[in-house]
Amino acid sequence: MRRVRVMKFGGGAVADGKKIKTVANLIRQSKEETEEKGSNGLGLVVVTSAIFEITDILHEHASRVAKEGDVEKVKKIVNELKNRHETAAYEAIDDKHVLNVVKKEIEERVGEMEKALVGICLLGELTARSLDYIVSFGERLAAPILAGTLQSMGMDAVHLTGGDAGIITNANYGNAQLTSDAEQTIRGRIMPLLDDNKIPVISGYTGETKKGITTTLGRGGSDYTATIIGAAIDADEVWLWKETEGIMSADPKIIKDARKIPYISYMEAMELSYFGASILHPRAIEPVMRKKVPIRVKNILKPEDTGTLIGEEPEKTERAAKAITLIENTSIINIAGAGVRSISDVAARIFSVLAAEGVDVIMISQGSSERNISIVIESAQLESVISAIQSINAEGTVIRDFTSNSDVCAMSVVGAEMAGTPGVAGEVFSALGKGGISIIMISQGSSEFNISFVVKKKDAYKAAQAIHDMFGMGM
Ligand code: ASP
Ligand code: MG
Repeated sequence: MRRVRVMKFGGGAVADGKKIKTVANLIRQSKEETEEKGSNGLGLVVVTSAIFEITDILHEHASRVAKEGDVEKVKKIVNELKNRHETAAYEAIDDKHVLNVVKKEIEERVGEMEKALVGICLLGELTARSLDYIVSFGERLAAPILAGTLQSMGMDAVHLTGGDAGIITNANYGNAQLTSDAEQTIRGRIMPLLDDNKIPVISGYTGETKKGITTTLGRGGSDYTATIIGAAIDADEVWLWKETEGIMSADPKIIKDARKIPYISYMEAMELSYFGASILHPRAIEPVMRKKVPIRVKNILKPEDTGTLIGEEPEKTERAAKAITLIENTSIINIAGAGVRSISDVAARIFSVLAAEGVDVIMISQGSSERNISIVIESAQLESVISAIQSINAEGTVIRDFTSNSDVCAMSVVGAEMAGTPGVAGEVFSALGKGGISIIMISQGSSEFNISFVVKKKDAYKAAQAIHDMFGMGM
């Protein structure tokens, strides 16, 4: 059977025309390598992010200006976006004919985007649905440029939006979920292209409902696009090209001796991505884990480096804990039940109002006296959480009292070997104790793949270093 590899390039990798050319060269190399080895060629599927910062501009800037109704300013932003993409195309695409085609595509897509933004100006309303449509243009503009660059180098590339590629989702705008029959659609769309020896270049992050309405998969969602596609077509590997060495034992900006982890299991990578290590989209592991498709996180700045391999088996290692991550800008909320109700009733109400508000609960802990529940959330959501909790008492006292504290940082120690290894928690907490750091809250998932705790903000980096040292994570 032929081999297929999915390669996803992040926004930094396609930041400008010169970088897009580098990416195109990497793609060509991948194809040539296998042809040299005498196999019948490697099927490649490419997934691209938006050009660096474009999603942010669309998300934060363009949409806001449109909502404020400033048509002139909107037109100015649109023009800047058009220039940036045209410049990238000029730099990346040498073949004049291809360049002209791509220029037209850019013009058309920018035109659609402008129409939508002006529409928002006139309506003065920005719905989740129109926001998804607007932000999708980042990836929808990048894919034609990258495909054109490959064509200009003599490769047979075609660009597709997420929807074209079969990423069919529900209408949960901003964080859409794949529908159950999407995998089959994806296979139906992608396999014939590979059979024809074409290179599909897919806009990451974007999808489409059954009715054809554009959706997005959540910020950083191009990773997720790549793994969805990889799982659907039973790829041999999914390579995620980023501007980092791979998955690290800690954030190198915080811990000087942070080290690249050469191999990590799906479960560990999932824990890390859910807990603040912004290296992977949190849901990106799910699809490939089911199909056991390995992921490789590769460094675009050091293509020859092996990066981090993510796979099924836990690694046999002496190191019980592999990585430490932290989520800054978190708040802890302590809720005391009224005592007249069971704690499960109180918890049920709390979590249902939080779910209704779309709050992402990072940690939960409940003391055995059953009088208190502590939860950790992102501070950005604090206001809505407070009003949600206040609303619970509207029909009678369920909550006696609650307090919040935003001067905290949630941290997590991750490692598959922690499961069933006695004493790891002891070591974690003694490292903190020796550093004179007091722990505000603790929680351990029953998978035992992580131990999470909360410390004061001012102690967080020191705590991370103490634990990193204790487990020799940097060695
Ligand atoms: N462009 C999108 C974002 O910035 C998706 C991605 O880059 O993965 O969130
Ligand atoms: Mg991006």
